[in-house]
Amino acid sequence: MLTQAPKGTRDILPQEVYKWQHVENIIKEICGNFGYSEIRIPVFEHTELFQRGVGDTTDIVQKEMYTFDDKGGRSITLRPEGTAGVVRSYIQNGMASLPQPVKLFYNITAYRYENVQKGRYREFNQFGAEAFGAEGPSIDVEIISIADLLFKKLGISNIRLNINSIGCPVCREKYGIVLKEYLEQKKEQLCSDCRVRLERNPLRVLDCKVKECNLATEGAPSMLDNLCEECGDHFEGLKGMLEKVGIDYAVDSRIVRGLDYYTKTVFEFVSENVGTQGTICGGGRYDGLVEACGGSVTPAVGFALGMERLIMEMDNQNASFPLPKGPELFVASIGSDADLFAQELVYQLRENGISAEKNHMGRSLKAQMKYADKCDAAFTVVIGENEILSNKAVLKNMETGEEKDVSLDSILERFKRAKSACKEGTA
Ligand code: ATP
Ligand code: MG
Repeated sequence: MLTQAPKGTRDILPQEVYKWQHVENIIKEICGNFGYSEIRIPVFEHTELFQRGVGDTTDIVQKEMYTFDDKGGRSITLRPEGTAGVVRSYIQNGMASLPQPVKLFYNITAYRYENVQKGRYREFNQFGAEAFGAEGPSIDVEIISIADLLFKKLGISNIRLNINSIGCPVCREKYGIVLKEYLEQKKEQLCSDCRVRLERNPLRVLDCKVKECNLATEGAPSMLDNLCEECGDHFEGLKGMLEKVGIDYAVDSRIVRGLDYYTKTVFEFVSENVGTQGTICGGGRYDGLVEACGGSVTPAVGFALGMERLIMEMDNQNASFPLPKGPELFVASIGSDADLFAQELVYQLRENGISAEKNHMGRSLKAQMKYADKCDAAFTVVIGENEILSNKAVLKNMETGEEKDVSLDSILERFKRAKSACKEGTA
């Protein structure tokens, strides 16, 4: 127990974390360009928020939440997703009085008690974006474009966008009756979960992963044929704008999303490779949620994207990540005076934004050089008694093997100059 992390959690080790940092940097850059500001929300909230915000009939609330009473007797739940917390924050912090739309993004861990498998964990990471206050399809397209551009910038392909509309409470209720009538006839073929769904939320039968349910719903009436005029226009507007900005999509009338609070637009980005855990990103419009959580009527749209599945997909597609760099300079030393000099030099280099490393292990010179090579140092310098007395040392370029005589007190300046030249070069 002591040396095993709980099931469904995992460490992201240094040899992998650079990939995450790369993706997170691109996310920040894209969100910046789209005008989305980062929000950081608590890991836990009142259980009621998720019951209301995620929906009582969803698998998440029914089966997957980490819920416990705290020492003060409050029922607390670890966030299973980000939207409910963001909505709570929007209301609590009076963001309705800000200029609309209010555009936010988050990078969070989320917690669900799941059957652990590849791409499915109990602690996982989501990148999400939410836009509040705008009701037309143009903001839906903006939200979809963020995810689309992220895939492009990360160099991954084979990701399909599927869209659907699940209408508004008015047309959905009518459709629910039509669908229920159809499903009643197929009841014998449905799984036990879907027989309950049939009573509580018949739309959810459409996206059941059980094969028999899939077959049973093949000829089911489509929501798209039952949209009211407003919802139909919204969907047509969405499709037109996606085409205009050049984002490929397919209409899939089975997408209803697991969460109860969606209205009109729903969408998923699905990978052709990640198998049964193929949904990398899911989202849609949730015009009823802010009100359901105690705010005023506010249209809103957003998505959540699974970071583990995204990075898995990048690995599958051999996408490139910028490799982490070793120190610019490794200062090897022989003897205690030289070690002190090395300590001072690496401090000054680091103070000037130049990565530097020294010996901390009492290694022999040979072992220090081996270590410098292992940690991929760009340059090394060896300092001993003679070097200190003569103020001279040999600077070695580890890549080319080239050696240069330099004075000790010029080393810092040399690296500072190289750094600013490099900066200018990239500017
Ligand atoms: P799924 O159908 O795979 O269970 P979901 O509908 O429960 O997904 P959402 O609640 O929409 O997923 O969450 C958005 C994204 O978060 C998913 O598309 C997926 O990439 C990721 N995700 C969801 N649950 C997990 C999990 N347990 N482990 C890793 N990633 C997850
Ligand atoms: Mg799920």
